Amino acid sequence: MGFTGDFFKQGNLIGGDWISASANALSVNNPASGDLIGQVPDHGDVETRQAIEAANIAFQSFRKTSALERAGMLRRMHDVMLENQDELAHILTAEQGKPLFEAKGEIAIGAAYLLWFAEEARRVYGDIVPSPVPNRKLLVSKEPVGVVAAITPWNFPSSMLARKIGPAIAAGCTSIVKPASQTPFSALAWGVIGEKAGLPKGVINIVTGSAQKIGGEITSNSLVRKLTFTGSTAVGKVLLRQCADTVKRTSMELGGNAPFIVFDDADVDRAVEGAMVSKYRNSGQTCVCTNRFFVQAGVYDAFVEKLRDEVAKLKVGAGSEADVQQGPLIDEAAVVKVGELVADAVSGGANVVTGGNRHALGGTFYEPTVLSNVSDQMRVAMEEIFGPVSAIIKFETEEEAIRMANDTDYGLACYFYTKDLARAFRVNDALEYGLIGINEGLITTVEAPFGGVKESGIGIEGGSQGINEYLDTKYACFGGLG
Ligand code: NAP
Repeated sequence: MGFTGDFFKQGNLIGGDWISASANALSVNNPASGDLIGQVPDHGDVETRQAIEAANIAFQSFRKTSALERAGMLRRMHDVMLENQDELAHILTAEQGKPLFEAKGEIAIGAAYLLWFAEEARRVYGDIVPSPVPNRKLLVSKEPVGVVAAITPWNFPSSMLARKIGPAIAAGCTSIVKPASQTPFSALAWGVIGEKAGLPKGVINIVTGSAQKIGGEITSNSLVRKLTFTGSTAVGKVLLRQCADTVKRTSMELGGNAPFIVFDDADVDRAVEGAMVSKYRNSGQTCVCTNRFFVQAGVYDAFVEKLRDEVAKLKVGAGSEADVQQGPLIDEAAVVKVGELVADAVSGGANVVTGGNRHALGGTFYEPTVLSNVSDQMRVAMEEIFGPVSAIIKFETEEEAIRMANDTDYGLACYFYTKDLARAFRVNDALEYGLIGINEGLITTVEAPFGGVKESGIGIEGGSQGINEYLDTKYACFGGLG
């Protein structure tokens, strides 16, 4: 099924011009049905260079706009998104698979990031520092870094861009965007959002096609002063290496292996509620999804039973159908990987409490699954599952839970449930993670910083910190003022 609305674009945006796909085109299919949605250009280094040069030309004037003007542009983009939330959400669900209510939520969150950064644009303050020497003034100011390249994943194809384009525009930067090949249409819609909001030509440029060629040009081109990447840790490492030769600033939002700890003193019903949202949202395909449940022996059976009852109620189907709570996985490779992880766990002694197979709907649908009797050394607990599978591990002591939770190279999100205030502070201090939910399973909000530690990444998106990633600090010493 194709779309006919204004926001559905099958071309690339370079310097304000939409370039159509030629003979070389990438097909984009709906993961729920396999149907062709449309085609986008299979572009490479030449078009990427053109887009970078367009962004650089636009930067020369955009950097001189006032913060108030840029705040106005971001506010208008926010309004365009919300006025067209339904159309944008339908495009997102068609290419990504998530239920329509989640897609609408993603559009709303993206718009909220724009509004937040519209406000932050006006608070980019510098400093006047007391001079140790008479007749000098020491001025510290913030300047836009320049042309920014943004590479984004398929699991949140719209809102991941809001977190990057929002602060880039707020800071006075121009951008070149390379979306995931499986979900380019939500990113291309950003070009239309910008046009409708009156963004100058060349401020947002969008190129689809070969990841290696586009990524190679972005990372080697010295006009690009910053790369902001969201995706897997493996690709993040490649890009970090490639950025070394031109010493680019980088923000890396990478993979996770989130623990979810339920202590004996927790409110188990609340924990199950948090588990459902942290695990099964987007079919388990989020970087902050719970990957490993650690449940203390005293509440283990009760938690497993209650979670099973809730999981068994989930309605699976195409995201565009009414009342569906879990859509398909993104592709066949994802289903195969989830199947392998479940099979590995079962062969090691795990019990399938519910689910555990491909869904009867066929295609890339997988049953919402709960596994008990899992060990922290099984693949399902060590690798990012990226599927609707809860792997539940039993523990006895607080120390044991913390040790197992920290025993990973990742450090993005984690969650724990307890009613003991002293334990809440103690465990919070001990966990090596960038984002911590205490008695909450869904904590992302535009007002707070988002970012991982260890191999989950470098840098912050959102919060009062997010805009700093797009600003350089300049110190100027004015002498001879006596
Ligand atoms: P991915 O395979 O790393 O791809 C992400 C993006 O990088 C896509 O646009 C991809 O393009 C591109 N890419 C791949 N290889 C490249 C290369 N050599 N040079 C330049 N670009 C390249 O990740 P994914 O499977 O799309 O997304 C899932 C991963 O993202 C998970 O690990 C998840 O945890 C992580 N994630 C992290 C966050 C966070 O905020 N920390 C948020 C969301 C997702 P193609 O599509 O054309 O291959």
